[in-house]
Amino acid sequence: MRVEIIPCLQDNYSYLVIDDINNTACVIDPSEAEPIINFIEKNNISLKYILNTHHHFDHIGGNKDLKKKYNSIVVGYKDDANRIPEIDILVKDNQVWKADNFEAKIIHIPGHTTGHISFYFFNHKLIFTGDTLFSLGCGKIFEGTYQEMFTSLNKIKNLPEDTKIYCGHEYTLQNSKFCIKHDSENLNLKNKISIIKEKLANNLPTIPSILKDELECNIFLRVKNVESFSKLRDLKDNF
Ligand code: ZN
Ligand code: FE
Repeated sequence: MRVEIIPCLQDNYSYLVIDDINNTACVIDPSEAEPIINFIEKNNISLKYILNTHHHFDHIGGNKDLKKKYNSIVVGYKDDANRIPEIDILVKDNQVWKADNFEAKIIHIPGHTTGHISFYFFNHKLIFTGDTLFSLGCGKIFEGTYQEMFTSLNKIKNLPEDTKIYCGHEYTLQNSKFCIKHDSENLNLKNKISIIKEKLANNLPTIPSILKDELECNIFLRVKNVESFSKLRDLKDNF
């Protein structure tokens, strides 16, 4: 099992989880169809599943065309059935979704939207966090409450430290500026920022991040209570 990062739109990432034995793949959050099709065709892979973390257009934009072209099966959260285009399989919190060799636990992480979920491929310690947890940041709270977002991030915090984090956007550098402003003595953060800058200078994604790094450097995971979290989230909105 391996993950391919497909840059989409301005700063989105879609991901392919590829099973090399069967030459099949799932796509997570196809923002648009074309970059996915290009990769699939070039590598002769069969795109069997489309997994959506939430209903925003930059995460579902490719659903319709990909399903039409490859007959892929669309998987999304049960309560968002009416706003995830072409949905076929409805999943719920804590459920293990299993199909072919793909196996992921669904973790409901509301806050950014009420129906936001993550796909945790526990056998490989990979999690797709959409717009909830970013590297060095977290998503804006559009539909949920601060408490919901705080609780959702705590769910992710409790996964194994070596879990790889695949998020929906390349926001890492901008996020790092906010973290360092409020946590200027953090040496781990300073180190991570140099690595981030080097990656970006070489045109490489800063993703995946490792949960351990996020626990050490991401200020939204380091706050102790929902009050401090809310303050930080407000400051970030105006940063
Ligand atoms: Zn979103
Ligand atoms: Fe997004």
